[in-house]
Amino acid sequence: MTKFVYGFSEGNKDLRDLLGGKGANLAEMTNIGLPVPPGFTITTEACRAYLDSGHQPEGLAEEIATHLDALEASMGRKLGEPGDPLLVSVRSGAAFSMPGMMETVLNVGLNDASVDGLSRQAGGNDRFAWDSYRRLIQMFGKTVCDVPGDEFEHAIDAAKRAKGSEDDLDLDAGDLRGLVDEYKAIFAKHTGREFPQDPKEQLDLAIRAVFESWNADRAVLYRRQERIPTDLGTAVNVVAMVFGNLGSDSGTGVAFTRDPASGAQGVYGDYLANAQGEDVVAGIRNTVPLQDLERLDKASYDDLIRIMATLEEHYKDLCDIEFTIERGKLWMLQTRVGKRTAAAAFIIAGQLVDEGVIDLDEALHRVNGAQLGQLMFPRFDLSGRPSQLTKGVGASPGAAVGRVVFDALTAKEKAAAGDDVILVRRETNPDDLPGMIAAQGILTSRGGKTSHAAVVARGMGKTCVCGADEIEVDVKGKRFTVAGKTIAEGDVISVDGTTGKIYLGEVPVQPSEVVRYFEGTLDPAQAGDALVKAVHRVMSHADSRRRLAVRANSDTGVDSARARRFGAQGIGLCRTEHMFLGDRRELVERLILAATPDEREAALAELLPLQRADFAEIFREMDGLPVTIRLIDPPLHEFLPSLEELAVHVAVAHERGQDVGRDEKLLAAVRRMHEQNPMLGLRGVRLGLVIPGLFAMQVRAIVEAAVLRAGEGGTPKPEIMVPLVGAVQELETVRTEAERIIAEVVADSGVEVLIGTMIEVPRAALTAGQIAEAAQFFSFGTNDLTQMSWGFSRDDVEGAFFWRYLELGIFGISPFESIDRDGVGRLVRIAVDEGRRARPDLKLGVCGEHGGDPDSVHFFHDVGLDYVSCSPFRVPIARLEAGRAAC
Ligand code: ADP
Ligand code: MG
Ligand code: MG
Repeated sequence: MTKFVYGFSEGNKDLRDLLGGKGANLAEMTNIGLPVPPGFTITTEACRAYLDSGHQPEGLAEEIATHLDALEASMGRKLGEPGDPLLVSVRSGAAFSMPGMMETVLNVGLNDASVDGLSRQAGGNDRFAWDSYRRLIQMFGKTVCDVPGDEFEHAIDAAKRAKGSEDDLDLDAGDLRGLVDEYKAIFAKHTGREFPQDPKEQLDLAIRAVFESWNADRAVLYRRQERIPTDLGTAVNVVAMVFGNLGSDSGTGVAFTRDPASGAQGVYGDYLANAQGEDVVAGIRNTVPLQDLERLDKASYDDLIRIMATLEEHYKDLCDIEFTIERGKLWMLQTRVGKRTAAAAFIIAGQLVDEGVIDLDEALHRVNGAQLGQLMFPRFDLSGRPSQLTKGVGASPGAAVGRVVFDALTAKEKAAAGDDVILVRRETNPDDLPGMIAAQGILTSRGGKTSHAAVVARGMGKTCVCGADEIEVDVKGKRFTVAGKTIAEGDVISVDGTTGKIYLGEVPVQPSEVVRYFEGTLDPAQAGDALVKAVHRVMSHADSRRRLAVRANSDTGVDSARARRFGAQGIGLCRTEHMFLGDRRELVERLILAATPDEREAALAELLPLQRADFAEIFREMDGLPVTIRLIDPPLHEFLPSLEELAVHVAVAHERGQDVGRDEKLLAAVRRMHEQNPMLGLRGVRLGLVIPGLFAMQVRAIVEAAVLRAGEGGTPKPEIMVPLVGAVQELETVRTEAERIIAEVVADSGVEVLIGTMIEVPRAALTAGQIAEAAQFFSFGTNDLTQMSWGFSRDDVEGAFFWRYLELGIFGISPFESIDRDGVGRLVRIAVDEGRRARPDLKLGVCGEHGGDPDSVHFFHDVGLDYVSCSPFRVPIARLEAGRAAC
């Protein structure tokens, strides 16, 4: 029979799929001898069974009862027993951490009778007992029974006001007792029943609620955002309560073993005396920095420091921790390998290598391309001395500028209307998630680096400043005040997530240091910046490990030079279309309107030197490296005026009696060339085969430019790429003509020219063995290959229905963002295998946007491509991921 429940001593950190992250790590801490209150974990498998069938799987109830017995025996108390009650917390914990998504209920087991027993346990501390009871009703009501949380909030606020205080600590036992009565009334009003007095029923209902919270709207939304599969389920942890609200010698806190924003070593965290866990994360009262604990309770502080060292040594990484001190005794309530900012990820990886904790291969796996991408974002340029409004805690780096909004809905609406917005809240909670997603940045007036806002923003890579406590947020009035100024909804502010500073108005942004390093304008040996040094180190290792070469997609000399500085080892896709735009449009028109071969030849002859000059510049910038040039791909009418505009223009000109001869000819051509579905029309190789001389002119321009370059002493490596081939005969026809021109132009210049094709039509992938006979290289055009495999056009579908497909889980992620391994990826595999079989030295690369997508890079490594090619800015990301894929 399936085992559904594990005692903490039965699990370990590698069982996170089964026990969830929290349960697996509670077990691990128990096993390495750290002080964890006893408890047990109900598995994710039990949750899945419950969600599938709507009821608890057979045997679960008995297993829970057995483990509860054992827990009671070890504590010497029985759950909720009036005289001397055992209380427990019921905590969710999925395999992936979902901050604030799933709910926790503390103090389960309290009721009208056991509240007195609890007070006696605490040496007659009535205040503590009633405070615990009111917390139970509040949390249980809100999370298990969906009672609106703000009703409880209003009641406690009213009680505080009656007391003339803002601090819940000023409420005494009598006040809290009265509050319990009010809470019970609120509970009964909303649920139609009395607050359950039976401890076992409380436990049972709480467990079910945790199971069900897996499918809560906001959990579903978070998973979609973070691309966490929907069918994992959550585990449930039942843990004996320890109490941080027993008095000033008790408290609760959160800590990181290193600074999660900068990676700096030290003691980082927040502590709150006389409080229960939720208080710290929710930012209800203002916490004190963890350092202050040394003064408040030296023994516990020393214990904590020792435990943090043990944890780092054990997990070989930054850990975050939740702890509680009960009357001078420290208890560990949670740990996990901590989330961190992108910069900290690189710095910490470097530090751990220096400390001999991990090797460079492991360091590569501690960072990723998405993080590197974040570090390449720009930062604020403060030279204009912008007016600083205030400073909070820099919780997630970045430079965000936008209009202030105060609620999630407005954030969503304004963002949808095209505005950049900054979401300003006192503190955030999971209900704010849609607004956080929509915003450029997040600003809160409460909570530290471990608050909900901070944790979620870091996870999303979104700029966030929290705990800016000089700010008075007035959500109803849609404004905030700080330092005598009032900022209203719609006003622009700038938020620096690195320094925590908030500026009034729009501050200009400047490029990141990491980009300057890649650009070559910042020498890592000279840089005072730990980040640049760490990035340099990791990148060097990635380069030494990777098997995939990385090229760039570029069609200008400037872009090519930049790509090369970013580490590109050639150009994987040089589009020639732009060479037909701008002033040259007229030449293209003449080409299209040519009535005789002579007219056409004349137009081509004028295009030839222009193209040659473009290519010469690129060969210069990429000297010694391969440059893949794609012959013209889009349909020619893309270079002509739109049918509607031209028709109107001609009609108006007619009316006015103007001479419209030329425009009429043009209009006729546009009509003739109009296509129902241009994506599947006359384009790519088809164009080359239909318009005599067009491809020949391009081939000649490429080869002449190469020969010129060779004449200057350079080493051009042109690779001519034919787009949209579906049959080997198409390629052979183009190739024969190209070879004739190459032979004629190259003569004895020593230039070597490769001829290859894109694989972007499914038929090409399926007949790759034949096509390889005529191609020296394949470059997978995965954008088109995706469009044609799915039968939809990106421009038309992304806005139209992708959201629905993502919502329904048909896509985990857009197939244009990350390669669809099962479908499009299968075509790539087939083409790789058959192509190589036909021609063992076939060069294989990819030039779709997937070439710069981290997950896709791993796929291309696995299928054995020689290189990926992506936009210049993504070249470092591809280099890093190619290194990670190789070790
Ligand atoms: P989350 O996943 O939101 O962090 P947790 O299950 O960790 O939720 O619970 C939140 C907080 O509740 C913990 O950090 C801790 O302070 C407190 N808590 C949970 N279980 C216990 C317990 N058994 N005793 C005391 N406090 C607890
Ligand atoms: Mg927690
Ligand atoms: Mg294409």
